[in-house]
Amino acid sequence: MKIVVPVKRVPDTAGEKKLSDDMTSDRESVEAVLNPLDEWSIETALQLKEAGKADEIVALCIGPEAAQATVRKALSYGLDAAVQVTDEGVHGSDALGIARILAKALEDLDADLVIFGSQSTDARTCIVPAAVAELLNRQALTFARHIEIDGETVTVHREHEEGWDVVESSLPAIVSVVEAINEPRYPSFKGIMAAKSKPLDTKSLADIGVDPSEVGLANAAAQIQDAQPRPPKEAGTIVEDDGSGSVGASALADWLQEKKFI
Ligand SMILES: Cc1cc2nc3c(=O)[nH]c(=O)nc-3n(C[C@H](O)[C@H](O)[C@H](O)COP(=O)(O)OP(=O)(O)OC[C@H]3O[C@@H](n4cnc5c(N)ncnc54)[C@H](O)[C@@H]3O)c2cc1C
Repeated sequence: MKIVVPVKRVPDTAGEKKLSDDMTSDRESVEAVLNPLDEWSIETALQLKEAGKADEIVALCIGPEAAQATVRKALSYGLDAAVQVTDEGVHGSDALGIARILAKALEDLDADLVIFGSQSTDARTCIVPAAVAELLNRQALTFARHIEIDGETVTVHREHEEGWDVVESSLPAIVSVVEAINEPRYPSFKGIMAAKSKPLDTKSLADIGVDPSEVGLANAAAQIQDAQPRPPKEAGTIVEDDGSGSVGASALADWLQEKKFI
């Protein structure tokens, strides 16, 4: 069985987000990292391979040339090979455009199972796995906190607010996983060294048969019109107590009453 794990290069959340003149994310101004939530999808794939359920795990990334460092990072965890789609025409694609490119790349890869993270920390739409499943006419088993493969069947525990549903599908299928599913490992030194020479296939949009008129900024259905930084937090009220506790307690009770909490 072949598993594909899509991995995304995202700006480090610790950095300050900036927009370029065309209102697209300025990805050069902030240090870039592997989408932290993809560590759980990578770990899920590795555990399935170690359990003898998969023979090969391929990373798939859409991103600029510099995203190669992210792909190598993904390989350092122990994945077997990677495909990176790099093309000027990707610039400014919205979630649907990205899903179209991933779907086309996945057609060529012929995966039995695609394992996504639940979301990426820059755009956080959580829609890419479902959109890819729709485009490929495959089942989407999203927000999985547990996964089992039995022959041609995949079963997941799909997390929601009240607990989880047990959902089953035949393969091939698309899964996204939440952090509760496992504890991601760290790449070993051996893994980091091995990642440097693992196969990495770079493709253009033309190579995978994506029509440029369906992706990119000019064809995005969603575009950023304006953005404002979050206003700085206002200082809270400090209540000075005289040491007895009663001044502070009554001020707190007054405040709770004023807000109608009590
Ligand atoms: C080169 C590039 C340019 C972009 N330009 C713009 C822009 O100008 N304006 C704009 O609004 N957005 C832009 N985006 C962001 C794009 O819109 C988001 O990638 C898209 O919205 C996907 O949504 P998400 O990240 O919220 O995915 P989610 O649905 O939150 O993520 C779920 C899973 O999908 C995976 N995934 C998502 N994207 C990729 C990817 N590219 N490769 C591999 N796996 C992926 C994540 O790793 C995660 O595991 C750009 C992205 C790229 C790669």
